[in-house]
Amino acid sequence: MFESSNLGFPRIGFQRETKNALEKYWKGEISEQTLLEKTASIRQQNWAIQAEHGMDSIPSNDFSLYDHVLDTICMLGAIPPRYQQIAAHFNLSIYFAMARGKQNTDLDIPAMEMTKWFNTNYHHIVPEIEPTTRFSFTYSKVLDEYREAKAAGYETRPVLLGPLTFLLLSKTHTAKFQPLSRLDDLLPVYQAILAALYDAGAEWVQMDEPMLVKDLTPDVRAAYHSAYQLLGASAHRPNILLAGYFDSLGDNSDLAFSLPVEGIHLDMVSGEDQWHLLKSHSIPLKILSLGVIDGHNIWRADLENILSKIHNLPASLSANVQIAPSCSLLHVPQDLTLEDKINQPVRNWLAFAVQKLDELSALTSAANTHQKSDLFAENNAALQERETYIRNKRAHHSIQTPQPLTAGRSHPFSIRKDKQQQVLDLPLLPTTTIGSFPQTSDVRQMRSRFTKGEINQQDYDAFLRQKIEEVIHLQEQIGLDVLVHGEFERNDMVQYFAEQLEGFIFTKHGWVQSFGSRYVRPPIIFGDVERPHPMTVDWIRYAQSLTSKPVKGMLTGPVTILQWSFVRDDQPRSQTCFQIAHAIQKEVHDLEQAGIKVIQIDEPALREGLPLKKKEWQAYLDWAVHAFHITTSGCRDETQIHTHMCYSEFNEIIASIAALDADVISIEAARSDMELLKAFSDFHYPNEIGPGVYDIHSPRIPSTGELEDLIKKALTVLPANQVWVNPDCGLKTRGWQETLPSLKNMVAAAQNVRDKIEMRK
Ligand code: GLN
Ligand code: ZN
Repeated sequence: MFESSNLGFPRIGFQRETKNALEKYWKGEISEQTLLEKTASIRQQNWAIQAEHGMDSIPSNDFSLYDHVLDTICMLGAIPPRYQQIAAHFNLSIYFAMARGKQNTDLDIPAMEMTKWFNTNYHHIVPEIEPTTRFSFTYSKVLDEYREAKAAGYETRPVLLGPLTFLLLSKTHTAKFQPLSRLDDLLPVYQAILAALYDAGAEWVQMDEPMLVKDLTPDVRAAYHSAYQLLGASAHRPNILLAGYFDSLGDNSDLAFSLPVEGIHLDMVSGEDQWHLLKSHSIPLKILSLGVIDGHNIWRADLENILSKIHNLPASLSANVQIAPSCSLLHVPQDLTLEDKINQPVRNWLAFAVQKLDELSALTSAANTHQKSDLFAENNAALQERETYIRNKRAHHSIQTPQPLTAGRSHPFSIRKDKQQQVLDLPLLPTTTIGSFPQTSDVRQMRSRFTKGEINQQDYDAFLRQKIEEVIHLQEQIGLDVLVHGEFERNDMVQYFAEQLEGFIFTKHGWVQSFGSRYVRPPIIFGDVERPHPMTVDWIRYAQSLTSKPVKGMLTGPVTILQWSFVRDDQPRSQTCFQIAHAIQKEVHDLEQAGIKVIQIDEPALREGLPLKKKEWQAYLDWAVHAFHITTSGCRDETQIHTHMCYSEFNEIIASIAALDADVISIEAARSDMELLKAFSDFHYPNEIGPGVYDIHSPRIPSTGELEDLIKKALTVLPANQVWVNPDCGLKTRGWQETLPSLKNMVAAAQNVRDKIEMRK
C-alpha cells in the first residue's frame, strides 16, 4: 500500500567528484572517456545509496553533466543553430558550448542564458525556441541512463522535464511568437522518447511539470489538456507520474487530476493545504506520490506529525501511496555524516539528502507496519531540543519579537534630499560604483593564507588596509564622486555578514549545485539572529579617513541574506527577516555614528523572493519592504541611503521598489539599453536612480561615446537631477585592466553630459 520513492538525488558526488572531473575535462587534463567513466560511477554510487537506504522507487536521468534543462534541450534537438556549426552531429563539445560558450581562433559563441529554477538558488539554461527550431530525439541520455541502471540491477523511474514546462521556460528572439505555439511539433518527440523507454522496459516515468504550481492562463491550461491527452492516448508508453512541486497545484489541481496520467506527485511541504484536497478528490490513479519530506530545506522532519496525516488519509483512496521528498533532493547537501564542522546541538537538528532517504523509509515502513523505527524517537527528541534551546536562548537575550509595524525614515524624501545635498555637495549626475573592486589573485591568496593560519590577523588587516588605500586613491584619480572601500575583506556578500551574526552556522561539506560545476555552501539560519558587534564599521571608517569625498558604507540587506541561506522553518520567514533587519539597523546606526554619510543596503535578491503564485506576491513584498524600513529606521535625514538590485524587471513590483524609500537605487540597465527606465518614469518614481551604464558581466571596455549615449537615453525619460551614473553591479569579478579605463570613460561621459546641460542653461 505504501512505497518509498525519490524524485532526484544530488549529482555532485560526495567529494564533489563531478566538479573535479568536469573542470579537469574542460582544461583538457582528462579525456571525454574518463569524464564519462567518472560520472558513471557517481550515478552507480547514487543508485546504490538510494537502494541501501530503502527506496522502493529510484530515479534515473536525474544526473546531469551540467543542467537538466540543458539536457532536455539537447534531448529534443532544440539546439540553436549557432552551436550546430561546432560539429556535424550532437556531441559534448556542442553541449558544453551551449553551457559555457566557445571561443577559439575561428569561433566566438557566447553561452546560452541562465536563470533561476523556480524559487530555488539553482540556475538552469534557458531554452531558445524559434518558429524554425527542428525537434528530434537527439541526446539519448535518458534512455542510456535507464539502461545503465538496469544493467547494474536497478529498476529506475526515468525523470523527464515535461513538454509544457519546457516550452514555458523557453525564450525566443522572434517577435510576436510564443514558444508554446510549437507544442504540436514537440509532442511527437516526447511520444518517441516514451515509446523508446517503454521498449527498453521502463514501467514508469516521472514527468516533471513544476509549471503546474504557477498561475496558468486558460490557453496554457488548454495546452496541458491537449498535450497530455495525446501523450496519454498511446498504449506504447510507460505509466506517467506527473510531478508538480515547489508549491501546491492550487487552481490547477482540477486540471492536473483530469489528465490521463497514472500518477501524480504533490508537494505536501510547500503545498500543505493539499492534505485537504485529498479528502475531496476522487483519485483514479495507480500512484499518488506525497512529497512529505522537505527537499528544499535541511531540517529533520516531524515524522510523527507526517505519519498521523498519512494515517488520516481517506480509506477510500484506492491509489498506492508513495512517500517522497517534496521535490528533487538536488537542492540540499548530500550527507550530514561528512560534516565535521557543525557543532551540537545544531548538527542534531539537520537532515541532508541521505538522512532524508532514511526519513522516507522510516515513514514508509511505519505506514505499512504500524511499527515506528528508532528514527521517530530520535527526530522527536531533536525537535524538542531545538525548541527548548531556542526558547531558552530567547529568554536569556530578551529578543524583541514580534516587531512594531512602523519603521522607516522620519521625513519624506523631498525633505531629506536638500539636507543630504547640503552635506554631500554632489554635482549633477553624480558618479559612483556598486561596492566591490576586482578581487585579484593577491586578494584571494591572502585570504586563503589567512584562513589557513599562514598569516596572522595583524598582517592580514594591514594588507586589507593597503588595498583600501589603493582603491581610495585610484577612485580620487578617476574622479568618482562617491567612493567605496572595495569589499576586499569579503568572501561573499552574504557569508561575510552571516559569519559575524549570531543565529547562523556554516557547513564544511554542505555543497549544493548552483549551476554547472559551481556549488555553494549556503549559511544555515538556525536561531534568533543578533549582531553582537559592528561588522563593517572599522573598514569603512578607515576608508573615509583617507579622503574628503564621501565613502559609502556597504551592507547586504535582510531579504538577500535570507534568500541565500537555508532558513529555520519554526517561524515565518518574515519573522526571521525582521530579525536580520534589526541587526543591519544597528550597523547602519554605528556607521552613522562613525561619520559615514552614505550607506548602501544591497538587495539583489529581493525580486527572486517573489512567491510562485501571484496572489501571494503582495504579502511578500509588504514584509520585504518592512524589513528594509527596519534597517533604515531611526537614521538621520542627512544620511543618504542607497540600495542596489542587479536585474531589470521592475514593471510589476515598481510600487514596492518605490515604497522602500531608498534615497538612491542603482539597478541593472545597460544590457536592456535603458528600456526598464520607462517603468520608473511611468510610475513617477520619486527618488534618485542610478541606471547601470555599463555591463560588468563582460570584459568589454565601453567607450566614452557609447556611455554618453546611454546617459542621454536615460535623460530622455528621467530628469537630470534624479539620475546617477554607475556600473551595473559590483566589479569583483573583473580585472583592473578593463575596470580602470571603463570607469575613466564613465566619469568622462558623465562630465560631458553635465557640460552640455550647463551650456544649454
Ligand atoms: N555591493 C556588492 C558588490 O559590489 C553588490 C553585489 C550584487 O549586487 N550582487 O559586489
Ligand atoms: Zn548587483
